[in-house]
Amino acid sequence: MKHEEAQDLLVGYVAGTLEADEREGLQNHLRAGCDVCETTIRELSELAADISLCVPQQTPSPQVKEGIMAAVTRPCSKRGLEGCFRMFCLLDKG
Ligand SMILES: [Zn+2]
Repeated sequence: MKHEEAQDLLVGYVAGTLEADEREGLQNHLRAGCDVCETTIRELSELAADISLCVPQQTPSPQVKEGIMAAVTRPCSKRGLEGCFRMFCLLDKG
């Protein structure tokens, strides 16, 4: 998997919405030693932990899942990814 492809999957990876083959491809990329993706995942995980403090612990609503999938398929910068997570937080609060 190319770095660019891996980048597109990072949000989904952290959110747990990847298909098995996508997750495996990304894990292979990480095992190959990509510091950039690893750092991004760490940052996104911290962000996700923040957000889990502001949303009730429950199965994500279809809208939230849709938002995550939209973010995953939309090319966004790392700053953009952070915005996506913030948006889910607001969406979930209604
Ligand atoms: Zn990478």
